[in-house]
Amino acid sequence: MNPKIIIAIDGYSSSGKSTIAKATAKHLGYKYIDSGSMYRAVTLYALRNKIIDKENLTVNEEKLKTRIDLIQINFIINNKLNRQEICLNGENVEDEIREMEVSNAVSFISKIKFVREKMVRIQQELGKEKGIVMDGRDIGTVVFPNAELKIFMNAKAEVRAERRFKELSEKGIDVSYADILKNVKSRDHIDETREESPLRKAADAIELDNSNMSETEQLNWILGLIEKMNKN
Ligand code: C5P
Repeated sequence: MNPKIIIAIDGYSSSGKSTIAKATAKHLGYKYIDSGSMYRAVTLYALRNKIIDKENLTVNEEKLKTRIDLIQINFIINNKLNRQEICLNGENVEDEIREMEVSNAVSFISKIKFVREKMVRIQQELGKEKGIVMDGRDIGTVVFPNAELKIFMNAKAEVRAERRFKELSEKGIDVSYADILKNVKSRDHIDETREESPLRKAADAIELDNSNMSETEQLNWILGLIEKMNKN
């Protein structure tokens, strides 16, 4: 049996990280963690507690700092849907964190240093025993710099927005393609230019542009890489 490894998948908003990460984890019998959902949960907390202004998206960092230790995040398994779901202080918020209100605000919360420090600690704890696929923006650079396999995913902004639009429409969430494209581009910009752990390809990450690849092709591509690694 091959030793368990850590697989870090980073990349732009809606680049299909979670789809490939989930499929890979399922295939290998690994745990899958969507680190973006953790930043989204903190954002939901901030919105609910009026720590972030919904209109101009300014964050009351002082207030958030005094509350940060009150924010508990953990994952539970939904056997029916065969997925991990995120809980915020014991409440399952998996669906709520995907709404546009959270998407529009999340980059303003995820750029705050003390928020990142807390999330990274939880993420490292989750990966302590390896056998994990985690996706995000800084998994290969900051959370698991020694991950055995690092992937950096990208696709054209229009392709990514189209995927997000389809995903949300299928869930019955009422959004326009134009709004999604705007959100995807603005999150990319904030994530890439922030001071704390900006979105970057790790030097040893393997890049994948999946604009024209099916899900099966992507899974086969990553499984091919793992097979090659195991042979070496
Ligand atoms: O992956 P997803 O698009 O759901 O992530 C939502 C937001 O969370 C990103 O736009 C980014 O601001 C933040 N994020 C991050 N670091 C991660 C994962 C997500 O800053 N590791």
